[in-house]
Amino acid sequence: MFNETSSLAYLSSAYTFPQILQDLKSTDLNYMESLWASWYIYFGNDIFATGLLFFLTHELMYFGRCIPWFIIDRIPYFNQWKIQPTKIPSNKEQWECCKLVFKQHLLVEALPIWLFHPLCSQLSISISVPFPSWKIMLAQISFFFFVEDIWHYTFHRIFHYGIFYKYVHKQHHRYAAPFGFAAEYAHPIEVMALGFGTVGFPIVYAYTALSHKQLPPLHLFTICIWITLRLFQAVDSHSGYDFPWSLNKFVPFWAGAEHHDEHHHFFIGNYASSFRWCDAIMKTECGMLAKQRREMMSQRKAESKYRKRD
Ligand SMILES: [Zn+2]
Ligand SMILES: [Zn+2]
Repeated sequence: MFNETSSLAYLSSAYTFPQILQDLKSTDLNYMESLWASWYIYFGNDIFATGLLFFLTHELMYFGRCIPWFIIDRIPYFNQWKIQPTKIPSNKEQWECCKLVFKQHLLVEALPIWLFHPLCSQLSISISVPFPSWKIMLAQISFFFFVEDIWHYTFHRIFHYGIFYKYVHKQHHRYAAPFGFAAEYAHPIEVMALGFGTVGFPIVYAYTALSHKQLPPLHLFTICIWITLRLFQAVDSHSGYDFPWSLNKFVPFWAGAEHHDEHHHFFIGNYASSFRWCDAIMKTECGMLAKQRREMMSQRKAESKYRKRD
């Protein structure tokens, strides 16, 4: 419908946001597309509109997703599904963590967010409406989930080695029993390295699509949905709760909270973010069973060593 929403910027001086939205309702755009176009028309400045959109998406989706977990922590009924039931984080602990994460968002992530629109223009990432088909969006988001998981596994595992752990990753492991707000509680180097898995791959994809026309172009709305889902995944995996209705109960390769909670509990193994296959293939699964298996192996090794000495 609109190839360049910013070309309608003249409307912004005369119309309020609801008025623009009302006008767009008479077009064949769906509600979400109208909302999207109204946002860009209202601000009349694509750099500002994209920057603010990204900042708000991140803050609202991250903290918005944390709040239900915070409430659940305060209701004793849900304790039956808490993975480490004796370790309920206090209000003070959660509030301190929440403040630190927000401060870090402002310091570490503000600048890249504001530079994102110029990058989008360079890479032909569209902001126009209508949006691409849901099938294209689904395929691109599935691809991002897949590659991010491998990236996260690799770098998370590196962060568990010697100096990387001591000076970088140790901060994230402050909470042996994680909770939602702790998902992004990490050293700035870790935020940037692991954050590349989320933001970097859409950029790499868009860059590749410039020269490979068979790849469908990327839309900024698709990136927003992907980032939202990735934030939900990160917060949920730190929630500390494994319900009978949790996604991993229906999708066996989905990691879920149980997978990552054990990583925080044992400090070793279960390095992947969304799926279980990386840890299964690389034999780095943790948990009681995996721990017993490892202990048995090292005991056998030690015994055979002694036998050889004798
Ligand atoms: Zn770790
Ligand atoms: Zn964690």
